[in-house]
Amino acid sequence: ISSVELTQYFLGRIEKLDPELNSFITVTPDVALEMAKMADAAIAEGSAGSLTGIPIAHKDLFTTDGIRTSCASRMLDNFIAPYDAHVVEKLKQAGMPILGKTNMDEFAMGSSSETSYYGPVRNPWDRDAVPGGSSGGSAAAVAAGLTPAATGSDTGGSIRQPASFCGITGIKPTYGLVSRYGMIAYASSFDQGGPMARSAEDAAWLLNAMAGFDKRDSTSLERELPDYTVHLNDSLEGLRIGLPKEYFSEGLDDEVAQVIEAAITELEKLGATVVEVSLPNKDLAVPAYYVLAPAEASSNLARYDGVRYGHRCEDPKDLKDMYTRSRAEGFGDEVKRRIMIGAYALSAGYYDAYYLKAQQLRRMVRDDFVRAFEQCDVIAGPVAPTVAWNLGEKSDDPVSMYLADLYTIPVNLAGLPGMSVPAGFAKGRPVGLHLVGPYFSEAKLLNIGHQFQ
Ligand code: GLN
Repeated sequence: ISSVELTQYFLGRIEKLDPELNSFITVTPDVALEMAKMADAAIAEGSAGSLTGIPIAHKDLFTTDGIRTSCASRMLDNFIAPYDAHVVEKLKQAGMPILGKTNMDEFAMGSSSETSYYGPVRNPWDRDAVPGGSSGGSAAAVAAGLTPAATGSDTGGSIRQPASFCGITGIKPTYGLVSRYGMIAYASSFDQGGPMARSAEDAAWLLNAMAGFDKRDSTSLERELPDYTVHLNDSLEGLRIGLPKEYFSEGLDDEVAQVIEAAITELEKLGATVVEVSLPNKDLAVPAYYVLAPAEASSNLARYDGVRYGHRCEDPKDLKDMYTRSRAEGFGDEVKRRIMIGAYALSAGYYDAYYLKAQQLRRMVRDDFVRAFEQCDVIAGPVAPTVAWNLGEKSDDPVSMYLADLYTIPVNLAGLPGMSVPAGFAKGRPVGLHLVGPYFSEAKLLNIGHQFQ
């Protein structure tokens, strides 16, 4: 099969199935087919790599030269960046035709992909359910077979939780492994891009292409990287899996817990041993995150003022009127809520009480993991306390939505790598197994995911 045929196949599925799922904001058939032709030429002349000719979709917060990047916001509805994000550039170089840009929560703020200016995404397993978020469009598109792979970003769980809710594989790398250049900023000290795919093996090939030093991102790490596909088939004999005793407490759905317990039994059959560990400060992570992430967001989103790019209101009276009305019209409710929380936490006189305190909690959460990894190689547990909820179910209750990230957020606070692999179903909806490792343990996580699948 040629890349053009493969690309046409996926474009056909998008056309047929996406009107119901709404997993894409922009579909780019012309770009995709042009790139597929180039890939076929590369294959014909023998210069193809492992990913050449395989289509991909990008979350709509990675800038794409000449293709709109909306971040699912009215603010950027008309924004066409003149450059590619580092990740997009790397995957282009790898020869992957771009099918389009996937739907998401506005500015990646959310856990359900319902806050998009372009309407909510639906879960392909059950159209009444949310796909998770914020990379819900990427997860739904991969799960429905509209694309073989997609990019995602994870600030507090946005790769792993939608991967879990849609029954696919997603890995959030160690902070700094994948360049943030051209990834529209939400909370810069947490944001990390990563691959979303059907299997750990696919994710490993994608991570090979995405990871690596980039001088345009000041937190990009300069270090020797492994080939993430080499250790996929290693035995799990002797692997020590840490189970945090705090994970299996009230709040965790019984049926989800059963799927996770069965997954751990499976890993034991593959040679792993289980040790109990403790993450005593895990409940401090969500409150700390909801001070720090909005604080960073309020600063990052200050640039959207209607002056340089993005939405500008009609007939502004003066400069202040232009700022206020452009922002009032351009941002949705959840984004405004985050900006207000962030601006409040950073305001004079409150800094010590909120921001500084939250940074101290962040450190405590990180130290918990460091201690736990003295006793185990990886930590396993649920990605989320429940399966995907119904559309609209949590829309009026942001705090209950925030609390649903209790397992994923600590990993971002610590900057550690984390992965979700499909583990089964509860209540007819997918459940992911969450694997968290020490810094730079991506190859190990992918190895476990591959053996487990
Ligand atoms: N749900 C979390 C939030 O709303 C995380 C989102 C993300 O990882 N981008 O901030």
